[in-house]
Amino acid sequence: MVSVMEIYQLTPKLNCKKCGLPTCMAFAVALLAREKQIEDCTPLLEPKYEEKLKKLREVMAPVAGATETGLIIHEDRCYGCGNCVVACPVNVANDPKGSAIGLGPKSDKVILVVEDGVVKCLNPKECRRFGPNRILCNLCTATCPSKAIEFV
Ligand code: SF4
Ligand code: SF4
Repeated sequence: MVSVMEIYQLTPKLNCKKCGLPTCMAFAVALLAREKQIEDCTPLLEPKYEEKLKKLREVMAPVAGATETGLIIHEDRCYGCGNCVVACPVNVANDPKGSAIGLGPKSDKVILVVEDGVVKCLNPKECRRFGPNRILCNLCTATCPSKAIEFV
């Protein structure tokens, strides 16, 4: 997973505030949290930073594919065992007779389901990592034997 320091090294390090933040380090933190876009740093779009911009786009690509809670599913590593589906406390609370016990979902408020042998994230806004009261639940990542789920 990309770190704040890696992102910071790819900023222009001008602290010019054009992105709306006081420092390039603050911009790097906001980029990783997906509160800012790469393009919000207008100096990065200048030709002299072309190489940094290219590398930054590369390292940020997986982050851009994350849900609102930061959850990323690496489909190539998932083999559909369903551990995460039954471990997710929201699935257990919202769908006790369906996905929580390894059956097909009976509620439309489940987060994780296995479809065609690969897990899908259906309702990221139900995830305990979403919104102002978020908690750092990680039961889905902790139970995955193949590290197919991660949070950024
Ligand atoms: S972080 Fe927690 S609530 Fe969110 S999908 Fe994973 S197990 Fe479910
Ligand atoms: S993400 Fe991991 S735990 Fe979930 S179904 Fe895929 S392999 Fe199993």
